[in-house]
Amino acid sequence: MTSPASGVPEPADPKARLAELVERLAAADAAYYRDDAPIMDDAAYDALRREAESLRAAHPDLAAALDQVGAAPSGAFGKVRHRLPMLSLDNVFEPADFVEFCASIRRFLGLGAAPLAFVAEPKIDGLSISLTYENRRFVRGATRGDGTEGEDVTENLRTLRELPATLPDDAPDFIEIRGEVYMTKTDFITLNQGQARQFANPRNAAAGSLRQLDPAVTASRRLSLFAYARGAASQAVGETHWDYLAILRRWGFPVNPLAERVSEAGAEPFQRSIGERRAGLDYDIDGVVYKIDDLALQERLGFAGRAPRWAVAWKFPAERALTTLLGIDIQVGRTGALTPRARLDPVNVGGVLVSHATLHNEDEIARKDVRIGDTVELQRAGDVIPQILRALPERRPADSVPFVFPDHCPVCGALAIRPAGEVVRRCTGGLSCPAQVVERLIHFCSRLAFDIEGMGEKTVQEFHGLGWLESPADIFTLRDREAAIAALEGWGEVSARKLIAAIDARRRISLARFIYALGIRRIGEQNAKLLARHYSSYAVWRRQMEEAGVIGSDARLELGSISGIGPSIAEELAGFFAEPHNRDLLDRLVPMLTIEDEVAAAGGALAGKTIVFTGTLESLTRPEAKARAEALGARVTESVSKKTDFVVVGADAGSKAAKAASLGVTVLSEAEFRSLAGLPPG
Ligand SMILES: [Zn+2]
Repeated sequence: MTSPASGVPEPADPKARLAELVERLAAADAAYYRDDAPIMDDAAYDALRREAESLRAAHPDLAAALDQVGAAPSGAFGKVRHRLPMLSLDNVFEPADFVEFCASIRRFLGLGAAPLAFVAEPKIDGLSISLTYENRRFVRGATRGDGTEGEDVTENLRTLRELPATLPDDAPDFIEIRGEVYMTKTDFITLNQGQARQFANPRNAAAGSLRQLDPAVTASRRLSLFAYARGAASQAVGETHWDYLAILRRWGFPVNPLAERVSEAGAEPFQRSIGERRAGLDYDIDGVVYKIDDLALQERLGFAGRAPRWAVAWKFPAERALTTLLGIDIQVGRTGALTPRARLDPVNVGGVLVSHATLHNEDEIARKDVRIGDTVELQRAGDVIPQILRALPERRPADSVPFVFPDHCPVCGALAIRPAGEVVRRCTGGLSCPAQVVERLIHFCSRLAFDIEGMGEKTVQEFHGLGWLESPADIFTLRDREAAIAALEGWGEVSARKLIAAIDARRRISLARFIYALGIRRIGEQNAKLLARHYSSYAVWRRQMEEAGVIGSDARLELGSISGIGPSIAEELAGFFAEPHNRDLLDRLVPMLTIEDEVAAAGGALAGKTIVFTGTLESLTRPEAKARAEALGARVTESVSKKTDFVVVGADAGSKAAKAASLGVTVLSEAEFRSLAGLPPG
């Protein structure tokens, strides 16, 4: 068979060929856009693209595999630090989840049964951005990035017709306004018609268009904007979120016309009505965002981790599909955990081609009796990893057998054990297991850790395979191999130089990121931040962790008393530092870095102070008091010691108040705490 469009014979395995084409086109795009160093001429590029398109036409089910083609990679944009972090939102899917979200707000605020008032806005499927105005002029625009730091896309944003260049006189001297850049469905279709590089969906098209190195290209694409959220500002704007949206509108920003004020009980009907209108809108949405309307309540609620407590994204129901389970791959993580992953016959689920799904763990596979060769029902909701819901036994091949979970590591062959009471089986190979070594390196370079541009999974695997990377410390000696890297296939001098520069740029790192990057079990982003805030400097942290190896030592007691760090986490940390090879790693790695001390919230009234709350507070719930103290730079611990600065005593305080008195620690009443924390008298 010959496909008419290209004259190229149909390959034996169209899926594999298409995957290869997608990869080669993406590499060509990266070289062209990111490195300004084309690796193929236009004719060769066009030939590959034509072949990919004819395959796409012959196999529409594979079309979405072209997803990655045309998404312009970044690398040349400057970084912008957001004055206030750009947060993500927690998701709910069911009415019951929304009810629980409201209940958690009431518990935090101690509100009793009072109903809550929300502003509901459709959740645009675009690219989040932050717009900074100084003296009422647009001076800077940035992507969300990791939430703390984004890419400077100011010049590209200036090309948006809908973006006000100046604000009226009543706007604050300094203000960050958050919103979403998106492409309408109509503009997306028009763009793809005239385009050599096809975009898979409007979201990719918007992202690719905004992150162009040449603003003229961005200008030629029609991008749209909705403004909807607050960043930092030199003075308050409005008293409710609803006011804020009205003010944005008056200042000339596009604000979604479907936004509405809704009561708690009105949320579900609103969710349904937007769901019904979804298909008719000229932009993609994937749910509705509900924000507490009263900005004073938003302030009190604050944040939990990366998400605000005062908002939630209620996503539309998950999409489902049937496909065949081709295999179950066992992946080995950085802590040795063996995780089963379903390999699927690729299937389109709600506009996205899915070829892998999670199977969670050994017990889950047994419970659902999922077998290789089964027809399985798959579910995909928003950006959550697709999951297998069930197998269809009536369509099961006659010769199928139950899946047997391996008891040896599929990578290094070491015994994989499952401690009693745990669901996870782990490889016992430790650092002799290449999978664990590679996964640790990938984690070390990842976005929330060292964030080294260009050191993704593929590069880490390649360098590890060459024997260049065993430990994270080796990353910082790669500069000695610059010429060898340049000589690798697919690299070249420009790419090698960029990688070395990207590594050098990360030799300075915050303590919290450094701790997270080490990949210690149970030390995720939040716990790394808690530790960094508590110990302030690398030197202190290291000394304390080694001392904490002795159970009952002061250092161990102090570690266990940090609010949020329980005994099992303390044990993991002590265990990590008890391993000589981990200490050796730190001894080699740290001298090549500058680890910044953690500075307590600047200007915070409680910066650097250690606080213990005890007894029942009358005007604040315990979580709110704790969140408030932390926002002002304090460390909150559970037990009183001579290092404690303040003990806040509520009603019925027990032994902690007595201990504070005996140690001479300052005791505060609830009213005194409120005044210290800048809260009005309760
Ligand atoms: Zn292993």
